[in-house]
Amino acid sequence: SAHRPSATRTTCGYCGVGCALDVVTRDGEVTAVLPARDGPVNQGHACVKGRFAHGYLTSPERLTRPLLRRDGRLEPASWDQAIGEVARGLRAAVAAGGPDAVAAISSARATNEENYLVQKFMRVVVGTNNVDNCSRLCHSPSAAGLTASFGLSGGTDTFDDVERSDCLLVVGANPVEAHPVVGARLLRRVLHGAGLVVADPRAVGLALHADVHLRPRPGTNVALFHGLAHVLLAEDLIDEEFLRERATGLTELAALLDDYPPDRVADITGVPATDLVAAARLYGRARRPAILYGLGVTEHLHGTDGVRSLANLAILRGAVGTDRGHGVMPLRGQNNVQGASDMGALPDVLPGYGRVTDPAVRSRAEAVWGVPVPERPGLRIPGMFAAARAGELRALWVIGEDVCATDPDANQVTRALDTCPLVICDELFLSETARHADIVLPAASWLEKDGTFVNFDRRFQRVRPAVPPPGGTRADFAIVHAVASAMGTALGCATPAEALAECGRVAPVFAGLTHGRLDREGAVPWPCPDPGRPGEAKLYEERFATADGRAHLAAPPYLPPGEQPDDDYPLLLVTGRRWAHYNSGSMTRRGGNLTLDPVDFLDLHPGDALRYAVDDGVPVTVESRHGRARLIARISEQTAPGQVFCAIHFPGSGVNRLTSHHADTVTSCPEYKVTAVRVSGQ
Ligand code: SF4
Repeated sequence: SAHRPSATRTTCGYCGVGCALDVVTRDGEVTAVLPARDGPVNQGHACVKGRFAHGYLTSPERLTRPLLRRDGRLEPASWDQAIGEVARGLRAAVAAGGPDAVAAISSARATNEENYLVQKFMRVVVGTNNVDNCSRLCHSPSAAGLTASFGLSGGTDTFDDVERSDCLLVVGANPVEAHPVVGARLLRRVLHGAGLVVADPRAVGLALHADVHLRPRPGTNVALFHGLAHVLLAEDLIDEEFLRERATGLTELAALLDDYPPDRVADITGVPATDLVAAARLYGRARRPAILYGLGVTEHLHGTDGVRSLANLAILRGAVGTDRGHGVMPLRGQNNVQGASDMGALPDVLPGYGRVTDPAVRSRAEAVWGVPVPERPGLRIPGMFAAARAGELRALWVIGEDVCATDPDANQVTRALDTCPLVICDELFLSETARHADIVLPAASWLEKDGTFVNFDRRFQRVRPAVPPPGGTRADFAIVHAVASAMGTALGCATPAEALAECGRVAPVFAGLTHGRLDREGAVPWPCPDPGRPGEAKLYEERFATADGRAHLAAPPYLPPGEQPDDDYPLLLVTGRRWAHYNSGSMTRRGGNLTLDPVDFLDLHPGDALRYAVDDGVPVTVESRHGRARLIARISEQTAPGQVFCAIHFPGSGVNRLTSHHADTVTSCPEYKVTAVRVSGQ
């Protein structure tokens, strides 16, 4: 009967674990979300976000009509009017300032096919490489660091092999809350006997079960990793044959590591030398030690150096590319942050990571797209905002990101949007960014879309619409097509399936991936150049993907973070995630998850609460050199003395007005993890 429930298999649109979900619907509404028993990663599990955070779908705040700014106010308009205005505005921007006067921020929430189409639109229709995605703000140092160390931007192994690991080194991540299904699997492994080292300034959930918990001062990772490497070398816990035959850079690194004995590292990081030695021995003596890390490694002024010096440990130990159950794996935050980058929504690379400056890479894309591809790398997200503030950017299209809430130094982001003559925003709700836009396009969400996501261990999985998009909304895929048509260019690839197939012709590493195959097989990792062969779950068994086929040890010196505590700002703010919410919370705060976790807190240590006369449960003012925020104080020993912690899920409290403009020197990833602040009960 028409009222009978039905279930649709899709992939979770929250974190990067990529849980397979069966979405049960009745009469076009979601009634339950069940974890798929045969889910390749989740194996019958899901967390509170994937299971329960779908109330936003039917929120009365959902945008269902395009909005155009007229006389300073956003007013409803038809889709024809809105698409016409977008096309006219982009054409005018190009006419006035050239193609590079236009930029787009694509979305790690959107499907691969949408990201492919957005970057194709910018390169083919507008004629610029000014396209980026929010991996810039989280794991761009992973892409840069892992590529330099091993050759490819993704994690080195499949998460399934963690079941074979006998020692887990979990760094700068809180998987119990941020990636709960992974957190549970790691915990199970530990309960079955694997050693566990947690390196994190906070007493995150996994730390309770750790053999050693290292609590470095925020911003001192590189020194910490060099300290561990020093002990591996000093105690001969290295794989000399591997280093001789499969790696380069040992001489330079060994010379550098002379400067990082445990006592000196203890001075820099605050980690006792005995703990450092114990952690290095656990990792160094294990047969199959695995490294998993999160944004606590990447979101730093020297985030890429952090990734590379962490990768050094695996290379020294010969624990990458040789066995199953080891390797180096970044825990991705957003559901499709890997895929958005894989699809080339980046200013310097095309789909599959070929550089735009390489004529051979461009000509392969040009053969498929039929137009010249611009050669000059485009602007990164922070560069887009700077160009807007300088009056050089005339149009910015923001797709599914609330940049005013989530990007650092938010006052400056808002100023950039207010200065840019045309801001277009695809959104589900009237977000902070949408409020500052000139044209708002109501978009469909992941439960209403067709396509694919790539999870944190490089697996492509299908995304299927469980419910139709609400009347008046459109998927970004359809929006981009409509704008291209209005500008006189047909983008081809009419369906998401065709878009992925075309992407495989531009980027051979994806050539073996099709919707049909994913429908049959469930999940397939890339690299996957051949439709008749499995993708490569484990990388580098024969050679690394670097030019010389070897893993590259790096020797960056430790350099301090952008901000240090001082008399005016004596505390260090670290930001992160909590279990019931996801990123800016725009979806998880609209539904039952808000009842589970309703209030934003500033966590601080009891000693600091005493020192700054702050009471538990009362509002406090937090100030940095960049802005101020109001939060409720929560006194907790989870946070180390001298540090405070706040989640990113309640942008209304203004946490990103506090964070700074400091960013990774290689990739421009913001230093969210180190901001000097002061707290007062006023
Ligand atoms: Fe799985 Fe992450 Fe979704 Fe939770 S949020 S159900 S862990 S993919």
